[in-house]
Amino acid sequence: MSKIISLADMLFCRQCIACGETLPLFSHEDFCSDCIKNVTRLKKDELVLAHVIKARSVFVYDGALRKALVRFKYNNNAQAGRYVANEIASLMKKDKEIMAADYIINVPNGKYTTDRLYNQSMFLAKIVARKCKLKFLPNALKKKQGIKSQLKCKTRLERKENIKAAFYAEKGLDLKGKTVVIIDDILTTGSTLNECAKVLEKAGAEKIYAVTAARALSSLKPIKIKLLDADIVFTKKPTVHYKFKR
Ligand SMILES: [Zn+2]
Repeated sequence: MSKIISLADMLFCRQCIACGETLPLFSHEDFCSDCIKNVTRLKKDELVLAHVIKARSVFVYDGALRKALVRFKYNNNAQAGRYVANEIASLMKKDKEIMAADYIINVPNGKYTTDRLYNQSMFLAKIVARKCKLKFLPNALKKKQGIKSQLKCKTRLERKENIKAAFYAEKGLDLKGKTVVIIDDILTTGSTLNECAKVLEKAGAEKIYAVTAARALSSLKPIKIKLLDADIVFTKKPTVHYKFKR
């Protein structure tokens, strides 16, 4: 990591991307000394999905990393986004098959809501593509309107059914003979990546890989995360409740 101290670092101390605590002056870390202990990297991270040759993930979706991803996704914490994007890129750089890809493609969002100002997968994919020097196709996949959020599905089966045929390809998308890598934040059941891959296959893609920041391994315990204008309470996976302060 660069040891050059930027003006921004001098003027604004960095904050822990999980708990928000102010880090020591000139710190280049992303987590505080407590939270970093609660970040787990996946040991065996490779998964085979029906339409994805290999799906890889950097972290276990739990502990401080889960908090950081929630802050990135629902509180627009770009520092957390940049951190996980860099980690995804580092993992990819060690994987020759993935680095031989022609394109990086992001999982599309449906309609943006006020609590989610941007597409987090696009944010990640853009940085990953730049770091890995791969071409990014930002609008290759689109999501149909009116698809219920996966967070609102209570069972694995419901998630699978909900996301079926939720995506379509950009008009004229031609991926004949190409290798593509789909980027997303979290892999839960793999249904979303699989459905995206199906569409890319139809557009001619020959090899499809996927890389996500984290993978949800088991049912998660309830957590409460302090945000700027609301607290998010994750009661029971995958339901999310907001408790707005105002
Ligand atoms: Zn912390």
